[in-house]
Amino acid sequence: MILIGPPGAGKGTQAQRLVEKFAIPHISSGDMLRAAVAEGTELGKQADGFMKSGQLVPDDVVIGMVIDRIGKPDAAGGFMLDGFPRTRPQAEALDTALAGAGVSLDRVLLIEVPDSLIVERIVGRRSDPQTGAIYHLKFNPPPPELADRLVQRKDDTEEACRARLDKYHSETAPIVPFYEQKGVLVRVNGEGPPDQVTRRIVDALR
Ligand code: AMP
Repeated sequence: MILIGPPGAGKGTQAQRLVEKFAIPHISSGDMLRAAVAEGTELGKQADGFMKSGQLVPDDVVIGMVIDRIGKPDAAGGFMLDGFPRTRPQAEALDTALAGAGVSLDRVLLIEVPDSLIVERIVGRRSDPQTGAIYHLKFNPPPPELADRLVQRKDDTEEACRARLDKYHSETAPIVPFYEQKGVLVRVNGEGPPDQVTRRIVDALR
């Protein structure tokens, strides 16, 4: 299964809930890249500048990383991709890799949120480095005892957010028809509180 949506659509939040429900690994290209940057690997060094400014990391860096990951044993029974594919070449490379492995996509879930809501969602976003839980200062407030340890992503500034949103429209939205034609696309309205969106997703996938 693949999750697609603009930055701040709630992909990470919903993915964490869905992987528990379906007992499959959550494979987030953004999380993998942030880990590579934090570890200072060669791949992390290549990705860092693009990520900070809200640009996409080049396809040749990202494709190999994700295709390797979905070939790991824990993904053999299924997986949830979050943040990949994000470009047409990525979608095609994934298609080829899945066809080669005899794996078919069950669903591509598109979480739709209007642009007017995105910036407020992103600049208020905070995450817990210990558990990976994602909060929002206004819409999904963290428990007060966690407040001191929460962190903000470096690319969750207004400027980087606008660049990411532009990239979403120019590079990622055009892959939606690719999956629509395959008959696997499911659209869900991502507005409103996280629990409400989870219910919509579970209903839509049923
Ligand atoms: P995310 O956590 O999915 O919002 O990703 C954070 C950042 O990582 C993006 O703004 C990109 O710079 C980079 N990134 C994540 N996934 C991809 C991808 N599939 N292709 C290119 N860049 C990516």
